[in-house]
Amino acid sequence: MAAKTKAKPRERKRLSTETRELLLTECGYRCAVPSCRNILALDMHHIWEVHAGGPDEPSNLIALCSYCHDMYHRGNISADSIYTYKAMLVAISRAFDIDAIDKLLFLNSHEPDFLVVSGDGLLHFARLIAAGLASGEQKTNNNWQLVTYTVNISEMGRQIIEAWREGDRTRLKKVIGGPMPGNTNQGLTS
Ligand SMILES: [Zn+2]
Ligand SMILES: [Zn+2]
Repeated sequence: MAAKTKAKPRERKRLSTETRELLLTECGYRCAVPSCRNILALDMHHIWEVHAGGPDEPSNLIALCSYCHDMYHRGNISADSIYTYKAMLVAISRAFDIDAIDKLLFLNSHEPDFLVVSGDGLLHFARLIAAGLASGEQKTNNNWQLVTYTVNISEMGRQIIEAWREGDRTRLKKVIGGPMPGNTNQGLTS
């Protein structure tokens, strides 16, 4: 009977489809843990837990794959990290398209100048570039026959990814300057 006390609690109430959709969009249909980003079996974890009175509001929920969800409830992922992951998702999903986070992670995990794209390809990074999180530089121009661009993560983009990976809330707040979940609900309604 006591064997399962450490396992994650079941979701007590069914979340509305609207809430689930909102959260899935926010996380890009992936686990919020930056080193994971699993697309399978996403649970909605209550940051402020249900048994402690935590509401079913989007600002209090975060998508975690069932593995990371278990890791959290077994104490292997800190509450502070969860807040940081949520803050990252809120900030990024409001400013960028759904897969901006993965684009940043991709750029961050490769050598400089690894990614060479066409002009069309560059457009996919337009918002990240405009926000100063990435940079695009013209690489080849054979009399305008073939114009390519290298796309790299910027120093600011790198700092955001680092703060996110480390689950460092203070540092992330400093870099993105956005509202922090857990404090207020400001900016979290759509
Ligand atoms: Zn949970
Ligand atoms: Zn995960």
